[in-house]
Amino acid sequence: MVHFKLFNRFDLREYMFNGMLSTPLNDEKSERLMNARFEATLPSSMDVLIVGAGISGIGSAYYLQERNPNKSYAIIEARDSIGGTWDLFRYPGIRSDSDLFTFAYAFKPWKSNQSIASGELIMDYLRETVKENGIDKHIHFHHKLISAAWSSSEARWQVEIERSDTGQRIQVSCKWLISASGYYRYDEGFTPDFAGRERFQGQIVHPQFWPQDLNYTGKKVVVIGSGATAVTLVPSMASKAAHVTMLQRTPTYIVPVPSQDPLSNTLRDYLPENIAYKITRGKNILMQRAIFDLCQRFPDQSRKALRYLNSRYLPKDYPVDTHFNPPYNPWDQRLCTVPDADLFKTLKDGKASIVTDKIAQFTETGIQLESGQYLDADIIVTATGLKLQAFGGATMSVDGVPVNTAEKVAYRGMMLSGVPNFSFVIGYTNSSWTLKVGVLSEQLCKLLAYMDKKGYATCIPEFDGSEMDTRPLLDFAAGYVKRAANDLPRQGMNAPWLMSMSYLGDLRLLKTTPLIDKHLRFGYRAKTAKHRVTTKAKAAVV
Ligand SMILES: Cc1cc2nc3c(=O)[nH]c(=O)nc-3n(C[C@H](O)[C@H](O)[C@H](O)COP(=O)(O)OP(=O)(O)OC[C@H]3O[C@@H](n4cnc5c(N)ncnc54)[C@H](O)[C@@H]3O)c2cc1C
Repeated sequence: MVHFKLFNRFDLREYMFNGMLSTPLNDEKSERLMNARFEATLPSSMDVLIVGAGISGIGSAYYLQERNPNKSYAIIEARDSIGGTWDLFRYPGIRSDSDLFTFAYAFKPWKSNQSIASGELIMDYLRETVKENGIDKHIHFHHKLISAAWSSSEARWQVEIERSDTGQRIQVSCKWLISASGYYRYDEGFTPDFAGRERFQGQIVHPQFWPQDLNYTGKKVVVIGSGATAVTLVPSMASKAAHVTMLQRTPTYIVPVPSQDPLSNTLRDYLPENIAYKITRGKNILMQRAIFDLCQRFPDQSRKALRYLNSRYLPKDYPVDTHFNPPYNPWDQRLCTVPDADLFKTLKDGKASIVTDKIAQFTETGIQLESGQYLDADIIVTATGLKLQAFGGATMSVDGVPVNTAEKVAYRGMMLSGVPNFSFVIGYTNSSWTLKVGVLSEQLCKLLAYMDKKGYATCIPEFDGSEMDTRPLLDFAAGYVKRAANDLPRQGMNAPWLMSMSYLGDLRLLKTTPLIDKHLRFGYRAKTAKHRVTTKAKAAVV
């Protein structure tokens, strides 16, 4: 006991563990082993249960413990590591698409010179965040949420968890459930059915399941796709491969961005770290929004500007309009960024090329295209996307009635109509995901504090279907979003039922509109369901 008082849990683990090893392990390996050996038991009940220890779950935990320190909480994580996306994806060159001055949390300055950062740097940042805020003590690895059943009489969620290492099932209960489980399946990526796939004699790799021993030195590689993953992989693999071909059916807008932020690097020489961070972050938030708005308001001019930018980095006779001219307007789908124009340099050097065509079939030695062109390949990488999934694949019920998520409407982009004491974290798709984590956490912490003050035990958003039409939750034209639109909840046409994608708009809404409105029904906890009293909220600014 004395030791636990003298050391925080992490120091103690390091102290004990280092003594057992003759050769030190690298950070990540030792972290995983320590997690496995010293993991505390998940309490049988808590105020708040957070599902997922990715960037959203960690951010949610930070705000919760800062703003509502009276709440007990735990994070369950299906895998053996924090980081979610940034730990899962291990393909060559894995990096952010967003600048880290907006992708990092508001509460923890991004200190690296790299504005577009590698997966490894992002993981270091997240490890530091959980460690220095004591969030690591609340994380339970290998705990996968299977189902959550709401009981109105108990005013609690009964949660079923599977130990993903032992298969053991555990039941715990909580007063509030936060799903921070990301938006896609971890066990499966998306790959279209390619005719003749089984005939191919080389290796087919999906970026979500990258074999760490994949040897592509001197090999002919075809990367199928045109999204963020494909444009990252092509220049990274080209340094070792004989040649890399990016095979796309439809082009994407690709924007060269500097990998470092000159303003941040200058400010940091003169100002304290957190002030320099705030200024750079503010500048980037405004810039992101301005670019998005410009693209939406002036699509033709934006298209021309992007075309000009692309052609500047490409050889004179390069067919820019064939490979860099999407059939949709800029920002109807997410723009892809390439740091320091790396993709363009690789194309210019001839180490990689782009082919825009349709696949007729795979053959023993490559890919036959519909145009008649043939691509020889030793390795085919299917950078064809993700399989979207709501709420980590867990099922939910309310008083024994299964929740059909596709019929639910999102309230303030964080709760679901008819589902009590439940919130979820889905970030922005048109700017840095994490900006929304801050907004949602702020809303939730205020709501929880309001409920405590009033003595309420339950909160349910109520959507009156006759009030307005609904549309898909993620109103984004990308293929992977469209494929899943019917499995995801929906959003309304107006606030508070909108899934806002504007950080500045969200900030304005937080400041100017009451968080508690007529759409929320609150209830007290009573000994029996019969005595439960409910009340519709009167608008109150909290
Ligand atoms: C390759 C790639 C690059 C990206 N780059 C950017 C970028 O540059 N900028 C940007 O804004 N966005 C980017 N995104 C989107 C990105 O996913 C988010 O920015 C962010 O990392 C998502 O964090 P998250 O915590 O919400 O979800 P995730 O990172 O997916 O983490 C979810 C966590 O929940 C756990 N989990 C899931 N289901 C369960 C369950 N049932 N029980 C217990 N645990 C569960 C998972 O194991 C995981 O650890 C990128 C996405 C990908 C795939």
